Amino acid sequence: MNRATEWPDSGLDISALHARGWRPEPFREFILKVHGRCNLACDYCYVYESADQSWRSRPRAVGDAVVRRAADRIAEHAARHGLGAVEVVLHGGEPLLAGAATIELVATAVRAAVPAGCRVDLSLQTNGVLLDEPTLDLLDAHGVGVAVSLDGDATAHDRHRRFPNGKGSHPAVTKGLELLAGRYRHLYRGLLCAVDTANDPVATYEALLATSPPQIDFLLPHGTWDAPPPGLRPDGGPTRYAEWMIAAFDRWYGADPQETGVRLFEEILNLTLGGASATENIGLSPVVMLVVETDGTLQQVDTLKTSYPGAPETGLTVFANSFDEALAHPGVVARQIGLAALCGECRDCPVRDVCGGGAYAHRYRAGSGYLNRSVYCADLRALIGHIGGRVRADLAGLTGSQGDGLDQALKEPVVLGRILGDVDG
Ligand code: SF4
Repeated sequence: MNRATEWPDSGLDISALHARGWRPEPFREFILKVHGRCNLACDYCYVYESADQSWRSRPRAVGDAVVRRAADRIAEHAARHGLGAVEVVLHGGEPLLAGAATIELVATAVRAAVPAGCRVDLSLQTNGVLLDEPTLDLLDAHGVGVAVSLDGDATAHDRHRRFPNGKGSHPAVTKGLELLAGRYRHLYRGLLCAVDTANDPVATYEALLATSPPQIDFLLPHGTWDAPPPGLRPDGGPTRYAEWMIAAFDRWYGADPQETGVRLFEEILNLTLGGASATENIGLSPVVMLVVETDGTLQQVDTLKTSYPGAPETGLTVFANSFDEALAHPGVVARQIGLAALCGECRDCPVRDVCGGGAYAHRYRAGSGYLNRSVYCADLRALIGHIGGRVRADLAGLTGSQGDGLDQALKEPVVLGRILGDVDG
């Protein structure tokens, strides 16, 4: 397969975009891969179990030289674009395997390098197994927020998230989470939960509430048109992922008062009401995130590992290239141009401005590349339709509006404020 003939490597005219006045958005979020291996062996992991097996040839841990150079590149980018804040996420593999010295080095090097007035928001995405008091003290000392992967109750979580010896990780994760949610609550950023339709959606959501997380992210399993997600028939089978999400949404949305934030649902509500998205999984907002691997190579986003071997690569490194050079890569441009990156079916779709074609990685099909609908298209359409229906019904209840009057009500700041106030509150 000649990938160079696929979109966007072929067919995306970046010069024409510039001629029409388009300019790239600077990166604001930097994913630093500080460790390339993991102490768990989750069977759905896109790093180790997908088409791209590049982890095998990369260093286990990031070196000091890569950290220092990445810090300088972040600072250079922040200065060049006058950024008031950058987000730096320590990632892996399991980032806590990198050890205290590396975590300290990242925190001190990035903060020392950025220009005065540029805030650095540091966080870490962990499987939670290594969260103990000394580790949390270290993260606290350096102001590193913590998000943890948890898939629900013990049965749901241990269905996939196991140690290499097959033992479930739920008891170890729960222990770490209880510490984080107690004395270290100020570091607690939230939970990431991979959706498995074998798990009950309401029971899963309620299990995640046990430590009162400030936010929950439900993540759809990765897949493409060539390798569809588990149980999904892209040619028109049942929309099980939508059914799962709708049950979770109704449980979350119906709670009074709101128990936590659920990022995907809040994004869809916000987009439905005419706002912009802040994640790359939904909506048309430009993606402003760049990945630095343990060897210093720059990557677009590592979920592309599910497409084909080498899909996330840019051919650039922190040693030889500025981050502005990465902004010119076709794969990065494609994730910044919103509507112009959508296929004809998406452009004509009634929920286009909310869906935005779904996550970029889920659009891949060998031959046409990323210029396709999401493999989750039917599920996304059903979920967005359901959420839009709930919002419209609530607005009708608030305003007594019908038909055109309701559309007018959607434009009223006071009505939006009441709905968003309910959501945010
Ligand atoms: S619902 Fe389907 S056709 Fe519509 S924007 Fe999303 S992926 Fe494209």
